Amino acid sequence: MKERAILHSDANSFYASVETVLNPALRGKALAVCGNREDRHGIVLAKSEKAKAAGVKTGMTIWEAEKLCPDLLVAPPQYEYYLKFSKLLFQIYSRHTDLIEPFGMDECWLDVTNSARPPMETAEDIRCAVRDELGITVSIGVSFNKVFAKLGSDMKKPDAITEITRENFKEKVWPLPCSDLIYCGRATTAHLKKLNVKTIGDIAAYPQEYLKKKLGKSGAMLWDFANGLDTSRVSHMDYKVPAKSLGHGITCVSDIENTEDAEKVIYALSQDIGYKLRLMELKACGVHLFVRDNKLLTVGWQAPLEVPSSDESIIAEKAFEILKENYTWEKPIRALTVTSIGLVTKSFPEQINVFFDNEKSDKRERLCKSIDSIKEKFGKKTIFPAVVLNESKMPSHAGKEIIMPNQMYR
Ligand SMILES: [Mg+2]
Repeated sequence: MKERAILHSDANSFYASVETVLNPALRGKALAVCGNREDRHGIVLAKSEKAKAAGVKTGMTIWEAEKLCPDLLVAPPQYEYYLKFSKLLFQIYSRHTDLIEPFGMDECWLDVTNSARPPMETAEDIRCAVRDELGITVSIGVSFNKVFAKLGSDMKKPDAITEITRENFKEKVWPLPCSDLIYCGRATTAHLKKLNVKTIGDIAAYPQEYLKKKLGKSGAMLWDFANGLDTSRVSHMDYKVPAKSLGHGITCVSDIENTEDAEKVIYALSQDIGYKLRLMELKACGVHLFVRDNKLLTVGWQAPLEVPSSDESIIAEKAFEILKENYTWEKPIRALTVTSIGLVTKSFPEQINVFFDNEKSDKRERLCKSIDSIKEKFGKKTIFPAVVLNESKMPSHAGKEIIMPNQMYR
């Protein structure tokens, strides 16, 4: 059988790199993409190489990060751009194969076994195309299985390629710590440590039967991984692991006291959901609404949609209906989250509903498409439903507008 050729490509500091493309003045600076500061949810979501070098880590609060790195620039996340770049990366990969399996937004495996060219050349092509066409960089691992390809993409960064072969894997992979192996989490690593198994080479040398006795099935699996025996396949690019839900919530700048204000916030939140669903080519089968009152008690309800939809006005209508039917207004509302649930791909066969006006639905869909293209060209704030007008409860950065790269927090 022909030796498999698997690549694992991982975009370097993805969010921060996209921010740098959007605003080149950020290049080479210490940058952190953070949840926002005013709501006290200020957590570092991603950081640039420079910020990383200063010790900034994902999951830290902005406050902790600034202590380590006083010249840190902080930017809010712009998911619509990250999604767009993720799609562009995918387009570059798909020039070489249609066996592409994403692993998160900025990583994926490619099976290039049947490519006419050697895998190292394909990797080099991809590395250069991403850098030259998108202005961001990837690290690529090239190997004969998925596990080693993933390890390889971690070994040299940024903008680099590492090849792990049957000949060199003992020398390159075995000295690495166990925790570098995919699916070797913290609990497993701790367990292995008790067995005095510290490196991937230690796993490989351990008798498989014992490892299986101690760790169960995953012990046997890790032993296979360490010995280069992973045979899992790269799935086809059309195979989609469907996202289960997509939501958008906010803590309001002041409490909501009445139905009218709640309606405005619900419509504003739904704008983003519709836009993102269409970007990901998904439709929702239902809507969930979370309400948190000013005593911080949270309640939630859900309801199905008549037909799957990515239309923000249908999602908002349903969410508002849920609120009117369930919330008793004993206390003012502090926070609201609208979540689209039961997500299906756009092509999901729709049930024919005799009471549902399909013609109207098609018209709405076309309208949504034109709204999206206007938003893309001129910014999200250019077009929104009248009900959102004069809406004053949303924090100004709650994602109802595309925040331009130069509108940093500081
Ligand atoms: Mg990455």
